[in-house]
Amino acid sequence: MSVPKSLVADFRKVLGGDSVFVEEADLLCYAYDSAVLEQQKPAVALAPSTRELLGRAVAMCYQAGLPITVRGSGTNLSGATVPAPGDSAVILTSKLNRILEINARDLYAVVEPGVVTARFAEAAAAEGLFYPPDPGSREVSTLGGNVALNAGGLRGLKYGVTKDYVMGMEFFDHRGETVKTGSRTIKCVTGYNLAGLMLASEGTLGVFSSIILKLLPPPKASKAMLAAFKRFRDAAEAVAETVAARILPCTLEFMDAKCIRAAESFLNAGLPTDAGAILLIEVDGGSAEGVASDAEEVKAVCLKCGASEIREADDHREKARLWEARRNALPSLARLRPTTVLEDATVPRSRLPEMVEAVASLAARHNLEVGVFGHAGDGNLHPTILCDRRDPEEFARVEAMVDGIFEAALGLQGTLSGEHGIGLAKARWMEKETNRATVEFSKRIRGALDPKGLFNPGKKIV
Ligand SMILES: Cc1cc2nc3c(=O)[nH]c(=O)nc-3n(C[C@H](O)[C@H](O)[C@H](O)COP(=O)(O)OP(=O)(O)OC[C@H]3O[C@@H](n4cnc5c(N)ncnc54)[C@H](O)[C@@H]3O)c2cc1C
Repeated sequence: MSVPKSLVADFRKVLGGDSVFVEEADLLCYAYDSAVLEQQKPAVALAPSTRELLGRAVAMCYQAGLPITVRGSGTNLSGATVPAPGDSAVILTSKLNRILEINARDLYAVVEPGVVTARFAEAAAAEGLFYPPDPGSREVSTLGGNVALNAGGLRGLKYGVTKDYVMGMEFFDHRGETVKTGSRTIKCVTGYNLAGLMLASEGTLGVFSSIILKLLPPPKASKAMLAAFKRFRDAAEAVAETVAARILPCTLEFMDAKCIRAAESFLNAGLPTDAGAILLIEVDGGSAEGVASDAEEVKAVCLKCGASEIREADDHREKARLWEARRNALPSLARLRPTTVLEDATVPRSRLPEMVEAVASLAARHNLEVGVFGHAGDGNLHPTILCDRRDPEEFARVEAMVDGIFEAALGLQGTLSGEHGIGLAKARWMEKETNRATVEFSKRIRGALDPKGLFNPGKKIV
């Protein structure tokens, strides 16, 4: 694979020699992401160091007919940053990592797309502000990647997901021209809601250069607890019952027995290794009394649903240990077998117990080892199949199980993906959840904004 030498020379002249990569060893780093898919090396990788140069890079690639895949940290789990086959360009946002403004009076911030999510949340906290979206990958994921996939996180139940915090943005179209949408105001109905269109667009419509994000005052009080259950299904019932009781914890996370044991042997966080499942719950709010009363209600629901133990986190350190264990559920499982295939099916919360049973029976039918964790309060489970990609017979069973998970989720009026996106991995399922007309409508939008079909081809809408 190669691009003409003259084009590489042009890239170097415009972007600087240290921002253009064509060596095999460099390109290998951008051939894959966190999904289990075939690798595809790009022909060139570009790392513009300013927003202006980002626009120039987009325009140059487009003019030269090079397919463009923008890459934040490559932590997506759907193949959304696997480059197109053949000669293509990867544009990296790693050097676009400046927080341009944090406005504590008007509660917003303006950021470049390559800012790492956790660094941004910390910078907001240093100003006494709160940025709630916290994907499990927040220590490495970028805000651009979060917006392009509408990332969720552990606080989704009460605080929503990335889309609830995007007030506006600037992005480059296929000619490298800047398009502006939204504003620094809470209200803005100027023009079409283009930010809404760009959210979850997976790099298929344009390239974000800056994003305006809403900030909140932090909650004044919070309480975290762990509820252990003997049976998987009882924990799922407790989630559905908590929501039905009109209690809105900020976090309501689920881990099954396999995840508990894997996380405990990795982290020694003091999790109950004899439990069939645990819920990790946090309630927060404006007063310690209100929070204490919500916590009592949640405890009562858990006990009614058969919780065998409820442990409150006494201090900040213990709370951090619990969340650390949950955030490390996937890395802990990944230590057990060579390959982890993580799914993202999401169902209405009241159907969670049925989904939990469907996953268990699929695992038994296909004779596969599966750990389940997830944002249970959002109805979003991550069944994670532990396997070895090099074993074709086993992997055929994995693929059959993944199809079964999608069928089950759609059968329960759920969705293919709560937060990980469609990417390459699920594009063929799009029509099944929606219909032909929806796919055709989306293709017309894509065709109008990307007439040569060069923005992240093969992803999302095919
Ligand atoms: C251990 C682990 C835990 C995770 N936990 C969660 C979780 O709790 N919630 C969740 O939602 N996800 C989670 N994820 C998935 C993933 O981290 C998120 O989807 C995250 O938003 C991806 O960010 P990124 O910077 O890695 O983006 P990338 O993977 O690099 O890119 C994702 C998409 O964004 C596009 N993109 C990136 N930058 C731009 C830009 N400037 N303009 C246009 N398009 C752009 C890319 O082309 C691609 O389509 C997890 C992943 C891992 C590995």
